[in-house]
Amino acid sequence: ATILAIESSCDDTSAAVISDGQILSNIIATQTIHEIYGGVVPEMASRAHIRHIVPIVSMALQHAGKTMDDLQAVAFTQSPGLIGSLLVGSGFAQALAQAKGLPLIAVHHMQAHVLAHFIEDPKPQFPFLCLTVSGGHTQLVLCKDHLEMQVIGETIDDAAGEAFDKAAKMFGLPYPGGPVIDKLAAEGNPDRFSFPVTSMPEYQYSFSGLKTNILYFIRKQQQEQPDFVQQNMADLCASVQQTIIKTLMLKLKKAAKDLGVTQIGIAGGVSANKGLRAALETTGKELGWTTYVPAFQYCTDNAAMVAITAHYKFEKGLFVPLGTVPTARAAFS
Ligand code: ATP
Ligand code: FE
Repeated sequence: ATILAIESSCDDTSAAVISDGQILSNIIATQTIHEIYGGVVPEMASRAHIRHIVPIVSMALQHAGKTMDDLQAVAFTQSPGLIGSLLVGSGFAQALAQAKGLPLIAVHHMQAHVLAHFIEDPKPQFPFLCLTVSGGHTQLVLCKDHLEMQVIGETIDDAAGEAFDKAAKMFGLPYPGGPVIDKLAAEGNPDRFSFPVTSMPEYQYSFSGLKTNILYFIRKQQQEQPDFVQQNMADLCASVQQTIIKTLMLKLKKAAKDLGVTQIGIAGGVSANKGLRAALETTGKELGWTTYVPAFQYCTDNAAMVAITAHYKFEKGLFVPLGTVPTARAAFS
């Protein structure tokens, strides 16, 4: 089947076309307006989605060499996300589905992040354990099948991406800070400063303590040396990045061991992090895992991951009626 998929959960407007499980196009418009504010402004994100959605869908169809008449279904991200942003994608998808008499597929954004692993070869085998690390979530997901997933652990406060972004903000770096820290960390010494690795019960994560720790540490240093952060930027970035990676790997290793799973992957925006990718590979070699990392363009928000999820839902006839409302929060379904 040929399906058009739309992703608009946060600040990226994206459309993709998939045909029989093959991605034909994946167009993304990233909103830059939020950089000035140091974070996503929901109201502005909604307006930018409205401006972008028609040209982005047209481009996705054009790049795929398809027209609206070639489509067999329309998919959209239903949750979780910013409600105003989600409404733009879902409203557009529903209008198109009604106009063309097409079935509608609703996709869970976090499930789509995991299924990004099934866009290209090599694809994981089941059971597959995925650590999804993004701007709003940190989840350990056990997958028994493409659509049979269970969140076995998650963060009780900040997400890993949020930890990167908030650390960057404290260091006076631009938003989003994750990729900036990644780049600067490559030049720094990760053992120069030591921050505590928070270990929560079971498979839970917590990153709010690290945030406070960094804040108090730099404040104290700045009392003696006002330009402490600027003078030690690369080492600070490398040390914070290493702490976040150690925290993430701790529970991933525990879950893999407890559950006896050796097919292991990372997904979500933070899986673009070079340090985390390297840690996964090294640990994987040590513990006999087969590791998976999605291609760079499928780590951060994109409609291709929504399209691959829609592909599996289409095969099972999992459609939703017109009038299906997006929600800011929702469990996997
Ligand atoms: P969610 O998926 O939870 O709704 P989101 O869609 O906003 O959140 P993503 O687009 O998946 O999140 O990821 C964005 C996050 O990834 C940001 O916090 C960003 O800083 C982080 N990130 C992106 N690239 C890197 C990198 N190279 N190193 C570390 N963090 C990164
Ligand atoms: Fe996301």
